[in-house]
Amino acid sequence: MSDEGRQLPGEFELIAEFFAPLSEGYPGAFALLDDAAVISPTPGSDLVAKTDAIVCGVHFHSDDPADLVARKALRVNLSDIACKGATAHAYMLDLMLPPATTREWLAEFAGGLAADQREFSVHLIGGDTNATPGPLTIAVTAFGEVPKNQMLRRSGAHPGDLIFVTGTIGDAVLGLKALRGELPNLDTTAATSLVTRYHLPQPRTDVGPKLLDVATSTIDISDGLIADLEHICGASKSSGIVDIEKVPLSSSARQACGGDPGLIAEMIAGGDDYEIMFTAPTEAACKIDQISQASGIPISAIGHIEKSASAKTNRVTVLDPGGKPFAVGDKGWTHF
Ligand code: ADP
Ligand code: MG
Repeated sequence: MSDEGRQLPGEFELIAEFFAPLSEGYPGAFALLDDAAVISPTPGSDLVAKTDAIVCGVHFHSDDPADLVARKALRVNLSDIACKGATAHAYMLDLMLPPATTREWLAEFAGGLAADQREFSVHLIGGDTNATPGPLTIAVTAFGEVPKNQMLRRSGAHPGDLIFVTGTIGDAVLGLKALRGELPNLDTTAATSLVTRYHLPQPRTDVGPKLLDVATSTIDISDGLIADLEHICGASKSSGIVDIEKVPLSSSARQACGGDPGLIAEMIAGGDDYEIMFTAPTEAACKIDQISQASGIPISAIGHIEKSASAKTNRVTVLDPGGKPFAVGDKGWTHF
């Protein structure tokens, strides 16, 4: 049994008050009153699972609004499930709470989860709650379904395929810069929209499942466009060529970066986009256009896949508008 934070009710009261209501409508969650939950996948489908933890001081700040912290913790997992062509239905929540955690913080946190449960049709089905002497840590494990043996992989990109991304790239990196006061000349509307993109990723849950019979490989962009394309190229034993001028930028991002090559390099290296990047043969372009129209999410071709010169050179090259290599420098976020 865990110790509870001093300012909080006991563990079971806390689960009953804040989390059991989030399991309503999912019979296999047993109102969070049993030891485990039951997930019954639709016959003919595979269960797809993903977990992601966020740590105070590493992934979010102690004064970030609790509802946004909750929604980001859930959404980064929904993004992984979506980019694999799957549809999420349920998630588990592991909380490591420091003694200073308050009831108000938890109420706002649970409110954020409730809002996103409505938006993305998912239910909380279980988890764990512990006290910790360390930083507040939140781990979400999401579960989704995909037709049997059809989960989209990182490994299927072929030479000649085009590389596509949903939405726009670099907004979250710029949002973080704006929060740090590093973009002083940006107008308030643009700054707000970039900061929102940093706090609240938009997992492409509509697009992902539509890519099932279209994409040859997929990934969601969390580490950065370049680093994540390198993951696709590594898994697919191929090389990627990106045309920098084709990388889609929001109007706020355009205003913020003003064509500054250094900032553009940070935007494609930076990460936290939670857009889907995928490869598909050129013949699929028309179908991809229809998917974009049907989901209301722009999808842009940003480059293509080539054969690797050798097994060790599954590299990404970024080209400037003149077709010359564009220096990116730091290639994305890694922890260690
Ligand atoms: P046990 O003592 O068997 O390990 P717990 O006491 O940790 O179980 O949890 C009791 C029930 O409450 C379980 O169904 C568990 O999944 C659920 N639960 C615990 N913490 C959370 C949480 N943070 N969010 C959702 N469900 C939770
Ligand atoms: Mg038990």
